[in-house]
Formats: sequence, structure tokens, C-alpha cells
Amino acid sequence: MDKGLTTVGFDADDTLWHNERFFQLTQTYFAELLADHAEHDHLMERLLAAEKRNIRHYGYGIKGFTLSMIETAIEVTEDRVPARIIRQLIDAGQEMLAHPIELLPHARDAIEAVAKTHRVLLITKGDLIDQERKLAQSGLGELFDRVEIVSEKTPRTYEAIFSQHGDGPAASMMVGNSMRSDVVAPIQAGCWGVHVPHGLVWEIEQAETPTTSPRFRELCDLGDLAALVAEIP
Ligand SMILES: [Mg+2]
Repeated sequence: MDKGLTTVGFDADDTLWHNERFFQLTQTYFAELLADHAEHDHLMERLLAAEKRNIRHYGYGIKGFTLSMIETAIEVTEDRVPARIIRQLIDAGQEMLAHPIELLPHARDAIEAVAKTHRVLLITKGDLIDQERKLAQSGLGELFDRVEIVSEKTPRTYEAIFSQHGDGPAASMMVGNSMRSDVVAPIQAGCWGVHVPHGLVWEIEQAETPTTSPRFRELCDLGDLAALVAEIP
């Protein structure tokens, strides 16, 4: 029997709080540290390639990013990168792991409003300890019926989570800033996919907008989410 929409999943990074800006600031610092060793665009290309190839070993998050910076520094200097620079990269990674949580507009209100009528889940990927820290500091943890920190957001991930903690993908919606992970993957699983763009997007998270899908929606910010959820039977 069709239950209608009963469950709403929220992404965390750059949906509820700022995240990508810390990666981009550190990336700028990385480029400065290695300015004498590599041309900027080449360095960024190599870093992105390292991040892509390392995801399967380290997963998403700051730890993997830090290791990818170190690996790239070694590569572009042909093993001659000074230990001082490695030290500075490790310090930069640790600073990222302590960055303050700054909520995005309407984050708390949107979760509270939707939670009145729907089951609300947090579904995020990244380093386990770091995601737990950010959730604790955000003060939003108690609003969710369930928190899932996963290694990858594939259609199967959503199918499993929404089947176990909801009424299945068809009765579920995912809300997030990443077109690939928070919108296209849930739509492929049979969910609603709601894109809430954030100015900064990591290249790996980009995907084509699924404009022809009847279950695709886009919002300027989370302020309009409760109204959208109310519209869907
Ligand atoms: Mg995100």
C-alpha cells in the first residue's frame, strides 16, 4: 500500500553547516606551501587525482584529504619535499579537524518543522569521529530520529537505510547540497531527491541535474523545505 512520504533524510556537510570552505582554504594554503615546487593548476590537478584514487582506501573526509596533500607534495617534488612542509600539512589537517561549526540558514528550523510530521534521519559520509564531533557541536543531534554515518552514498545505501529506518525508498526524501550523492543517488533508489545548492562544490560531488525526473526538486535554501514536504502527499 502506498504510504506517501513518511521519512526525510538530511545531508550534513554544506547542507546543515559549512564544510567545503575549510577544504578550499586549506587547499589554498597547500598551494602556497608548494608554490616553489609546482605550478598552481598542475598541483591542483594532481591533488584531485590523489583524492579520487584514495577515496577507496581512506573514504571521505579530512584524514584522507590530508594524506592526499602529503602524497601530492611528495609526487610534485619528486621525493624532495622538506619535512617542514609535511609537518605544516599535518598541522593544517588537524586544524581542519577542529574547525568550528557554523550552521547554514534555516537548518534547525527546517529539521524541527519537518520532524513534526515526518521521521527525520541524518545521512552523512566522512570520517566517523569528525562527523560525530560536528554533529555534537551543531546541537542538532537530538532532533533526528536516526543518524547514519556511511562510507559512500549509493542508491543501495539509501535503499538499505530507508527500508530499515523508514517505509522504503518510495516513501522517502533525501535533502542535500551534493547533486551526485544527495540527489541523483536517492532518485535512482526511488526516493525524492531535493537539491539545496551551496556556493562551493567539490568537483567529485558534481553530477548532471536530473531535470526530467518527477522526483527531483530544487530549493534556494532550507527555509522552503517544510512547505515542499507538506505539498507531497
Ligand atoms: Mg554535503
